[in-house]
Amino acid sequence: MKGITYQVAIVGGGMVGATLACLLANQGVSVALIDAGDPTETWADDSYDQRVSALTLASINVFKSLGVWAEIVRLGEQPMDKMFVWDHFASGELAIDSADAGVMTMGSVVENRLTVLALWKKLQALEACDLYRSTQLEGFDISEKNVDIQFSNGDHINASLLVGADGSSSKIRQLSGIQAYGWSYQQEALVATVKPEKPHQNTAWQRFLPEGPLALLPLRNGLVSIVWTSKPETTEANLQLSTVEFCAALADASEHQLGGFELMGARGAFPLKLQFSSEYCQQRLVLIGDAIHTIHPLAGQGANLGLKDAVTLAKVILSASESKRDIASQQVLRRYERQRKGDNALMMAMMDGFKRLFSADDTLVKLGRSSGMGLINQSTLLKNKICQYAMGV
Ligand SMILES: Cc1cc2nc3c(=O)[nH]c(=O)nc-3n(C[C@H](O)[C@H](O)[C@H](O)COP(=O)(O)OP(=O)(O)OC[C@H]3O[C@@H](n4cnc5c(N)ncnc54)[C@H](O)[C@@H]3O)c2cc1C
Repeated sequence: MKGITYQVAIVGGGMVGATLACLLANQGVSVALIDAGDPTETWADDSYDQRVSALTLASINVFKSLGVWAEIVRLGEQPMDKMFVWDHFASGELAIDSADAGVMTMGSVVENRLTVLALWKKLQALEACDLYRSTQLEGFDISEKNVDIQFSNGDHINASLLVGADGSSSKIRQLSGIQAYGWSYQQEALVATVKPEKPHQNTAWQRFLPEGPLALLPLRNGLVSIVWTSKPETTEANLQLSTVEFCAALADASEHQLGGFELMGARGAFPLKLQFSSEYCQQRLVLIGDAIHTIHPLAGQGANLGLKDAVTLAKVILSASESKRDIASQQVLRRYERQRKGDNALMMAMMDGFKRLFSADDTLVKLGRSSGMGLINQSTLLKNKICQYAMGV
């Protein structure tokens, strides 16, 4: 293929890259969105994506502004109105209801592939966007005026700006030489979709266990999506259990809050790590989403952070484009970096701190956190603050 030229080429059409593509193409910026998979592929009605995200109201507002929220609702979103958090140690517990903060809901739980499908459907209708499905980035060459982007099928395109939205193992980050720092948590998250015996009550349940948190998120059709964090060897053992044994172990681990469970489909596992880059951009190249920050999923904030990156980068690009400046200059891209770095670093530090607090083995720390949860539970003001934080406001 002859190299078509775009203003922006985004590699990675997951939730973050596809949102950026929508924000830009909606305003007439010419965009190429490239993904190794095919997000428009259909699936059986009774199959569920293991990758699920709790979206804050702030993220939902982004999708509303793009006109894709109605499609996400049609495909199957689940409102989340309450949170119930409890500790395996002592009696610490925390119950938060969005109604007490005067709002209907804290956010919604959606399977990642539903959100991505709704975004890609929108992109198919936007003239300014070309979609490259089942297409792998192979390499790129940056020159003074543009970037030549090569695909593994031998094709290539050109763009003024290359965006790496290609996830935590970002090839763009690796090829650019941008350093990634961080550490493995020596934990794995077991993910699965289950049908609970009792209704989920639009509630996100989270129990802190000795090896890590067990989250049970309310999902469409009365189902529950679980994220069960443990040491890798425990996760491996739980993956090997028979379906009946696994459901019994899950019911015990959740103290039968939702009764027993029926497993819907396969179980999967993700190794957990903290990873970040201190450099977000180079001349004509910029990173967003998990490509620059991967955090512990215990408070479900990774995708929400990435969506904030997409919104900020789109604003900076659109403002440069309107004033006829080079959208890919260091001056423009550094503005995005400055605006996002503080918020991303704060969230990473908070998630890392929570992870350490709730996996501490020291009896004094355990007593402190248990009574701390009890104290917060008695304070409407603090609970409203936590509710606002969960809503992303
Ligand atoms: C167990 C678990 C639970 C989570 N729960 C939540 C939650 O409740 N709320 C929340 O906000 N976040 C949650 N997260 C985090 C969230 O899933 C991620 O932050 C989010 O998916 C990152 O989106 P992304 O678009 O940046 O990257 P990804 O979703 O990883 O997308 C990257 C895309 O790039 C494509 N790609 C990669 N390499 C190439 C290449 N060379 N060429 C072409 N395409 C390429 C891939 O096909 C993929 O589509 C959770 C994470 C885990 C592990």
